[in-house]
Amino acid sequence: MSQGNAPEEMNVYQNAEARFEEAAKKLGLEQGIYRYLKYPDKEITLYIPVGLDNGTLEVFTGYRVLHSTVRGPGKGGIRFAPDVSLDEVRALAAWMTWKCAVVDIPFGGAKGGVICNPGKMSRGELERLTRRYTAELASWLGPERDVPAPDVGTNEQTMAWVMDTYSMHVGQATTAVVTGKPIELGGSRGRKEATGRGVMICVDKAVEKLGMKKQDCRTIIQGFGNVGSMAADLMAKAGYKIIGLADIGGGLYNENGFDVPAVIDWVTNQKKRLQDFPGGGTKMSSKDVLFQPCDVLIPAAIENQITEKNAASVQAKILCEGANGPTTWQADAILDAKGVFTVPDILGNAGGVTVSYFEWVQDRQGFFWRESEVNERLMDIMVNAFDVVVKYAETHKVNNRIASYMVAIDRVAKALKLRGIYA
Ligand code: NAD
Repeated sequence: MSQGNAPEEMNVYQNAEARFEEAAKKLGLEQGIYRYLKYPDKEITLYIPVGLDNGTLEVFTGYRVLHSTVRGPGKGGIRFAPDVSLDEVRALAAWMTWKCAVVDIPFGGAKGGVICNPGKMSRGELERLTRRYTAELASWLGPERDVPAPDVGTNEQTMAWVMDTYSMHVGQATTAVVTGKPIELGGSRGRKEATGRGVMICVDKAVEKLGMKKQDCRTIIQGFGNVGSMAADLMAKAGYKIIGLADIGGGLYNENGFDVPAVIDWVTNQKKRLQDFPGGGTKMSSKDVLFQPCDVLIPAAIENQITEKNAASVQAKILCEGANGPTTWQADAILDAKGVFTVPDILGNAGGVTVSYFEWVQDRQGFFWRESEVNERLMDIMVNAFDVVVKYAETHKVNNRIASYMVAIDRVAKALKLRGIYA
C-alpha cells in the first residue's frame, strides 16, 4: 500500500492558515487583531554568496520570517534543506508564535531557512553559508530581538557558528543570541533530549487520560533524527514497546519491538542505513510504517505525512506530533471521527523550545542548571500546558488541536491589546 501525497493537498502555509482561521473564528477574534496576527511582522529574503570548495561561487536563497514579537523576542529554528520555501518558513514562524504561547514562555515566533542540500556540502561550505547568512541578518538578530535555534539540517555546530559570527559583529561574546548550542558555549543540559522528552511527557499524559498502560503501548516513530531517536530512546527506557521506525531511507516494522539503543548505535555511530538494521523487522516505505497496527503514533520527520487520502488508515489510539505540520487540516476531521486522541505539534514538540527558553535564561544569568533541574522544569511546563489544552478542548467541545490554537491565540491577543498599537 503506497500512501503518496495528493497533489491537491494544501501546503503547510495553507494548513497553518486554515487552523488559525478556524480557531480565530471560534474565539470570536475581532477583525483588527485577526489581521494583525495573521500576517508576519517581517519577512526577509537573502541571496547568500558562498565560495564552494571547487573554486566556484554559488548564490543560495535564504529567509528569516519574524511572525510576532508581541510576547517577547522572536524564537525559531533555522532549516537547511533543498525544499525550503518562503511559504514553509512563514508557516513555521507562525507555529512558533502559537507554540511559545501554548506553553506560556515569553517569546514570539520566527523561523529561518536556506535552500541547500547540507548532506552534499562540505563542513567548510556549511560554515561559510551559515556565517554569511548570520552576518546579513546581524542587525535583526539578538537576545532581545530574534533568537534562532537548530531545525532540520542544522545542529549544535551550526549554532556555534551563528553565535560566533553575531558576537564578532557586536564586539562581545553573546551566547544568548542562539539556543541549541554546545554545552561548552552556553548550551543547556538536557536540550538535545528536550523535544523527544516533551513528546514522551505528552504521550504519558495521553496514556493516563485514556486509562491505558505504557507497557502495553506499541509505538511507531517516523523520523530518526534529533526528535525521533531521542523520543524512541527515552520511551523504550520508560517501558514503551517501539515496533516501528523510519527515516528518509525507509521504514522497519517489528511486532516484537526494537532494541532502540542498538538501532541508535547502528545509525549514529556505525553510520549505517536504518532499514538495514540487522535486528529483524519487515522493510517497508517510510510512509507505510505510519499505517501499521499500533497504539501510539509519533510522526517526527517532515510535514504533510497524514493527509485526507490516508488518515483513515491510521490505526493508533494516540497521535503525538513530534514534527511540525505532519498532519493536514483535512486529515484532522478524519482522525477525530476515528476517535484518535491527537496531541498537536504546537504542544507535542514544544519541549524543544521550552528548554531553549531555559538555555536563554541561563545564558543571560551566566548561571547553569543541573540536568535534573532542567528536566523537572520541563515536566512542569509540559504537564501544565497539556492539562490546560485538554481541559479547554473538553469545555469548549473542540478537538485538542483547535483548543491549543485557541489557548495560544487568546494569550497573544490579550498581550497585544494590553500593549496597544504604536502609531
Ligand atoms: P533531523 O534533521 O534531526 O531528523 C529528521 C529525520 O527525518 C531524519 O531521520 C530523516 O531521515 C527523516 N526524514 C527526512 N525526510 C523524510 C521523509 N521524506 N520520510 C521519512 N523520514 C524523513 O530533524 P529533527 O530536528 O529531528 O526534526 C524533525 C521534525 O521535528 C521537523 O518537523 C522539525 O521542525 C520538528 N521539530 C524539531 C525540534 C528539535 O528540537 N529538533 C523541535 C520542534 C520540532
